[in-house]
Amino acid sequence: MTSIRNDWTREEIASIYNKSILNLIYEAATVHREFHDAQEVQVCTLLSVKTGGCPEDCAYCPQAARYHTDVKVEKLMEVNDVLQRAMEAKESGSTRFCMGAAWREVRDNRDFDKVIDMVKGVSGMGMEVCCTLGMLTPSQALKLKEAGLYAYNHNLDTSEEYYNDIITTRTYTDRLDTLESVRNAKISVCSGGIIGMGEHENDRIGMLRILATLPEHPESVPVNALVPIPGTPLEDQPRVSVWEMLRMIATARIIMPRAMVRLSAGRVSMTLEEQALCFLAGANSIFAGDKLLTTRNSGGIRDKEMFQVLQLKPRMAHKNG
Ligand code: SF4
Repeated sequence: MTSIRNDWTREEIASIYNKSILNLIYEAATVHREFHDAQEVQVCTLLSVKTGGCPEDCAYCPQAARYHTDVKVEKLMEVNDVLQRAMEAKESGSTRFCMGAAWREVRDNRDFDKVIDMVKGVSGMGMEVCCTLGMLTPSQALKLKEAGLYAYNHNLDTSEEYYNDIITTRTYTDRLDTLESVRNAKISVCSGGIIGMGEHENDRIGMLRILATLPEHPESVPVNALVPIPGTPLEDQPRVSVWEMLRMIATARIIMPRAMVRLSAGRVSMTLEEQALCFLAGANSIFAGDKLLTTRNSGGIRDKEMFQVLQLKPRMAHKNG
């Protein structure tokens, strides 16, 4: 039986990450089958409830106000409109609904009250409700928990060493503090990162080590491939290969066996066969719909066909293990 460990060293993770690719996938697939039903994939929907105009400088993000991108600034959506979108997502098979706001941090104001109402409404539909709203204080985390928030997403993005090359307007410690507030409020933690931002493989390993040595592993680990957006500082980054995604997914699966590993941004440019390899390597969640916040995503028809061909089963909400 594979044990759950929180004492991984960088060297141990590097030796997993650098295994020959077929052995790495085989090992990850074996661990995956020990902890999960390997035919099950959770379908999630991510909706941008407040778009653009963000004061932060995340180099990959088209929503940062300082970059000139095609993203149009939109104020916080109305609660009923969000609930309508959540219902549509549920009807089309999503069991998790994540609401993203392009904020630096949550402020205790009327907009936050509206988000609380959104959380209550979506939670009442029986979906796993998740938010990604920027930095969060312990009291705000508790308020969200009381409203029925199931999970909170706050990605580490990259390693501590490479972080300042990507974001200068908040620190790595700020990120970890938010994750601690979420954990202390007994909200499920969703945290992962992005590859293809010019980082070294050591940075990918470093980020995975931080996640896998948190006092408790995140329940959810999104693995994103950068989708370079014109107007952002990373617009000219070459796309990552599927082999790099596979190494990240498989390593995350082996070192955090219970986590949901989410094949997130970048899926749009993958073939069905490449996605099948990602599921074999331990990914067990995808995001549905045409958009991931503001970025292009795989559409529903293509996913329906994929579920049929690979004989995948949609994972129910609130399922453990
Ligand atoms: S990733 Fe989030 S915090 Fe960073 S610029 Fe984009 S919206 Fe703002």
